[in-house]
Parts: sequence; C-alpha cells; structure tokens
Amino acid sequence: MTVSALMPRIVRHIELNGPMAVSDYMAMCLLDPEYGYYTKAEPFGANGDFTTAPEISQLFGEIIGAWLINAWLTVGKPSPFTLAEAGPGRGTLMKDILRTAAIEPAFSAAAKPVLIEASPRLRAIQSETLGGTAKRTQWLNDFERLPDRPLFLVTNEFFDALPIRQFIFHRNQWVERCIGLGENESLQWQMGTGKIETDHLPSYLKNVPAEGSIVETSPARESMAAKIAAHIAEHGGVAINFDYGHTTTAVGDTFQAVHHHAFANPLQEPGKRDLTSHVDFAALSQSAGSQGAHAFQVMAQGAFLLQCGLLERAGQLGAGKSQEVQEQIRNDVQRLAGSGPQEMGELFKVWCLAQNEGVQIAPFEV
Ligand code: SAH
Repeated sequence: MTVSALMPRIVRHIELNGPMAVSDYMAMCLLDPEYGYYTKAEPFGANGDFTTAPEISQLFGEIIGAWLINAWLTVGKPSPFTLAEAGPGRGTLMKDILRTAAIEPAFSAAAKPVLIEASPRLRAIQSETLGGTAKRTQWLNDFERLPDRPLFLVTNEFFDALPIRQFIFHRNQWVERCIGLGENESLQWQMGTGKIETDHLPSYLKNVPAEGSIVETSPARESMAAKIAAHIAEHGGVAINFDYGHTTTAVGDTFQAVHHHAFANPLQEPGKRDLTSHVDFAALSQSAGSQGAHAFQVMAQGAFLLQCGLLERAGQLGAGKSQEVQEQIRNDVQRLAGSGPQEMGELFKVWCLAQNEGVQIAPFEV
C-alpha cells in the first residue's frame, strides 16, 4: 500500500467534525484540489485503474457522433448550439464526436464545443487531445454558466463520480452511514447520528426493511440532472448519458472502489482509488421530469449501440485491414456491446433527455 497524502486531512476533518458522510468523503477523495483522485492520479487505460468505453474504441464516439447529428436534424437543426461533454476524462470521446461531425458540415458549423470539467490537470490533457479544436472550445467548471442556447450534451461515467449518501436501517430508524476513525489512523464504517424522517424517503422505503439494510440517495446527482433538464426544457436540445446503474430504485450498497482494474476497499488509500456507485436512473428521471424535460425509457448500452449501427460501422472500419486489426475490432465490439459480466452492453445503460414528451429520437422509445 502506498502512503495516502489525503489521509491526515481526512483524519483531522473527522477529529474536528465527527464521522463523515459518504458524500463528503467521496467529494474529498475524488476532487480535493491537491490530493484528489481526479486532481492527481492517472485513472484511465491499461496502466491506470479502469478503461472507459471511449478509450476502448473510436467506434463508441463515432456512433454517438452520428446519433447527435441525427438528434440535431430531428429537432430542427438549431444554430448555433452548445455541443457539450461533462466529465470528459482524457477528451477522447469529444475528439471522436468532432471528427464524426464532419460528415454533416452544417452540424459542425453550428456546434460550439464546451467541456465541463472540475480537474485542472484533466483540462490540460483534454486540450492536448483536442489539438486545433481546443482553440474554439470553452471549458466550464459547472453547468451554471452554460450559454443560453440549445444544448446537445453527452456524458460517459460522469454521474457515477458524483457523491452519494448512504443510510442504514438500525433499530427501526434510518441513520446516516458514516466514516469514522479506527485504530492507527485507519478509517472504518460507523453509524452517524443523523436519522431521517421516513416522510422524506421515497415510498419504496416505507415498508419496514431488515436491520442493516442500506439505501443510497444522491442529492448531487439529482441536482445535476435537474440543472441539465432545466436548461434543455428552456433552450431545447438533448442530453445522452452512459453509466452503470439500475433502472428502478432499490435497497442495497453499491459504493465501490476500483484500483488497477480490480475492486478495492473504498476506505483504504483515500485519493488513490476511484470511488463510484451505481446510478439510480429512476431518481434522475424524476428529477429531470420536475423541470419539464422528458426522460426516455432507459436502454441498455449494447442495444443502443447495435440499433445505431455498431456492427455496420465496425465492418467499415475493419474493411481491408489485417486479420489482427479485424480481430481487435471484433473484441472491442464485444466489450462495448456484449452482455457478459466483464462486458458493458448490459451493465451500462443509456439515459437520455429531450425538451419535452413530443420529441422522438430513434432508437429511444417514448
Ligand atoms: N468521460 C470520461 C471520464 C469519466 S471519469 C471517459 O469516459 O473516459 C469522470 C470524469 O468526471 C473526470 O473527468 C472527472 O474529473 C470529472 N468530474 C468528476 N466530478 C465532477 C464534477 N463535479 N464536475 C465536473 N467534472 C467532474
């Protein structure tokens, strides 16, 4: 185990304030300005901690680029519009989308690229990835300053990085699940004191659960969904989001750490491991709906990519290439769209928003 520079800061925080909510722990571990995971570590790729869909193959960004063009045509070619990505990592997805956009010059000309990124280190990498396009790209810290024009937004593994809270059912009440101090400056799970009134919980929680049941809520994700939805309801556009999660809200602990492509203990080496949890798409849709935007039925990533022509595009990409390259493309397709436990096709979902219920964009069902 390597030394975590963030640990003394967390210990001090707990000594001063008492046990920490999971949301505060997650926010500090991921985005502490000096020692946060996204501030400091190199998460992506074979030598990092995890590999994301755009880093697997250019096919992912190309399919999304083509989908965005179709969505833009469907909603009446607004011009100009914001072409945004939130949490762009290395910037690979946006690069692939912009390259694909060249097939529809009117789309390219109307698009004003915006990247929403909290980590200054990743902003620099994104700028490098985008090359010449970086000059006409605007970087924002959050959604507050988005220009007042239609928004075409894409995110991949963004919502899962936003903090969650956990509550544990203990002696007939829900109390916050917190992180406190163990021996030798280690961290351990602890019950917080804050109990929540059942009136404020979703209806599915009102049945008496088993002792020790855990539920997760995410004010951060829901308010992010609400901000995006409010912008789209007012100015038009779409938001297409890829993430792993569940389509109906349920009881369960999904908080996890990933290090070198394997699950790890989230309370060890804070700041050195990626922390995420499954996204509750039902909660996001409810939040988006409250702002007047329309959330389509959630699709599995595999079904989405296949219906958008993944196999056809893979065939074009492999045509005339060596057997080795063709084999690689086949493997990439399988990883992106396959339904096995190590593949993304079923595990990952596509959650998509449009301005209102009247908008229909293939392959989503209303
Ligand atoms: N989309 C990329 C990276 C996913 S990792 C890919 O698929 O490869 C999560 C990304 O979200 C990182 O770029 C991280 O710095 C960013 N991020 C996390 N929390 C954020 C926040 N609150 N606001 C903006 N960006 C955030």
